[in-house]
Amino acid sequence: MLRIIFGGTFDPIHNGHVTTSLAAFAELNGDVMHVMPSAQPPHRDYPGASAEQRLTMVELAYAGNPQIVAEDWELKRDGPSYSLLTLREMHERWPQDKLIFLLGNDAFAKLDSWYGWQELLNYADLAVMQRLAQDTPWTTAVEELVRTHSNKIHLLDPPNIAVSATELRAAIASNTAWREQVPARVARFIEQQHLYGR
Ligand code: ATP
Repeated sequence: MLRIIFGGTFDPIHNGHVTTSLAAFAELNGDVMHVMPSAQPPHRDYPGASAEQRLTMVELAYAGNPQIVAEDWELKRDGPSYSLLTLREMHERWPQDKLIFLLGNDAFAKLDSWYGWQELLNYADLAVMQRLAQDTPWTTAVEELVRTHSNKIHLLDPPNIAVSATELRAAIASNTAWREQVPARVARFIEQQHLYGR
């Protein structure tokens, strides 16, 4: 069984996340994809929507696709959501399964700032989605990792969807051309819950 794990703040989840992750899931030939909002993002300011609201938006975004599971794994754990700890737990829970952690290149480019980053590949391969609108150069340590572990790092070229959650939150607050950047169900939820100043 091949499990793809897609983590993020998802504040909110948007078409960039959904379209590129589904393309990656198909390209990697995954059996199931766990889409997992992080609890307290270690690298970021505290998010605008609550953990429960972010999880609900993930559920709405992939609704109707039985292979995609909105995962509350990191929300149930106390403390910051370190990917290493989550991947290690997942590996212990499903020791027979192959895990691939999916992330955008902007995140991968700075992987060497992550907690325990050198151990990540003990538990999962990495699949990196190019993100042309946020092209970020790899650090020297990340370049070295790609060179030495090319069999465990999959470089993908998904459709280029130039949406970012930070820009989207500003667009929602000012009510400018934001609905087409998120799945329709997510747009309705944002309005119902008055998220991001709506
Ligand atoms: P922000 O703009 O605030 O940085 P974000 O849009 O990157 O937010 P995150 O929740 O931080 O949203 O992203 C989760 C993961 O999805 C990260 O690995 C990120 O690189 C990736 N990602 C986000 N948007 C895209 C996109 N448009 N195309 C490809 N990957 C993306």
